[in-house]
Amino acid sequence: MQTKILLDEEQMPKRWYNVQADLPTPLDPPLHPATHKPVGPDDLKAIFPMELIKQEVTTDRYIDIPGEVQDVLRLFRPTPLYRAFRLEKFLKTPAKIYYKWEGVSPAGSHKTNTSVPQAYYNMKAGMERIATETGAGQWGSALAFATMLYDLECTIYMVRSSYTQKPYRKSMMQVWGAECIASPSTKTKSGQMVLEKDPETPGALGIAISEAVEDAATHANTNYALGSVLNHVCLHQTIIGQECREQFAMVEDYPDVVIGCVGGGSNFAGIAFPFAGDKMTGKHKDTDIIGAEPASCPTLTKGEFTYDFGDVAGLTPLLKMFTLGHDFVPPSIHAGGLRYHGDSPIVSRLVHDGVMRAVAYHQSEVFDAAQTFSRTEGIIVAPETSHAVKCAIDEARKCKKTGEEKTILFNCSGHGNFDMSAYDAYYAGQLVDYEYPDELIREAIGRIPKIQ
Ligand SMILES: *Cc1c(COP(=O)(O)O)cnc(C)c1O
Repeated sequence: MQTKILLDEEQMPKRWYNVQADLPTPLDPPLHPATHKPVGPDDLKAIFPMELIKQEVTTDRYIDIPGEVQDVLRLFRPTPLYRAFRLEKFLKTPAKIYYKWEGVSPAGSHKTNTSVPQAYYNMKAGMERIATETGAGQWGSALAFATMLYDLECTIYMVRSSYTQKPYRKSMMQVWGAECIASPSTKTKSGQMVLEKDPETPGALGIAISEAVEDAATHANTNYALGSVLNHVCLHQTIIGQECREQFAMVEDYPDVVIGCVGGGSNFAGIAFPFAGDKMTGKHKDTDIIGAEPASCPTLTKGEFTYDFGDVAGLTPLLKMFTLGHDFVPPSIHAGGLRYHGDSPIVSRLVHDGVMRAVAYHQSEVFDAAQTFSRTEGIIVAPETSHAVKCAIDEARKCKKTGEEKTILFNCSGHGNFDMSAYDAYYAGQLVDYEYPDELIREAIGRIPKIQ
């Protein structure tokens, strides 16, 4: 009856796992936003260091984690895998529920797994500053932490709705020495354009991305960094799932169900790709791999699998992914980190090919689940994470009905200690369960440029 399954520091994975090596068919290449031709390394050199561009496209199965990156990751890794005995008992389920706890990192979420290597490669490439966007503030704070360690400056465009809702994330960025600006802002042309049309806009991740990319592209000493979606980001997160595999081996178990919440897809990718690899290579063919997303931004469940821009202004390369259309502005739900119109191209492909599947939940039901989790396991999860908690609880309840003793694993991507205003809204009965009308989704999808 082991509650915490812990690895020693020496057992931290020394390599990232690249699921591109095990895809049945290669990914569709990103396309240049203007010419619609595949983008080459030269197109990306203006905003990314070469090491990350290489990681974006390589099909090598394993990529070594630089020693100086391992040194920083060891501040909080390996992270614990917990067995949720109290939650199981409360649910009266025969299922075994495990969760991987990523909230132990200094920034409080999985995002430091990629902010650290990204800052490192930019420092190695001689960059002086990184510009980025942040939704709920987790990525901004994770990058602020990482850039501080490698002596880089950091400018963060934060989605306005979160900027006002979550002031303490902003404070964290300041402690770690970064500059945080509400987006849309008047600092960039992309921001000015959006503000002209709608001065009251709550902002969106897609808009903030346009601003950060523009900032990086127009300053020679500045690169851009993305906290989710891209292949190299998902790659860096695979340290999570690899650790889980080791931890399950220690208790002689293996998950039947693997769950993560999905915004851009990186924490889900992180926990799921190693298991998806086992599934695609026939080692464990029947693993059920589930991404949980908000019903108000139902990218995987209602979007279209097609080429689209990553941002509102159409500055980023076109990615083949599930998308709701690049000008889709989701309502300002409390899980700000899940408000993104697109998704990781690899996660999209694996969902499209049936290796993974997706479910969508409303705000009030995920907060019910988060409360259940806090009152059994203690941890107060981030609103984003609560989608994964809800999915795990649903799967465990199904087992109660069927009597199946499944092993359920979910990624507990971060803590909600700076999201208490969201919990306050929940207890005040102020959460709105936005149902985005299918018609509006179809209209937004209809505005995506058609690529031959
Ligand atoms: C950012 C964030 C997410 C969503 O982003 P993904 O790239 O989909 O993982 C989920 N949980 C937490 C705690 C986050 O900070």
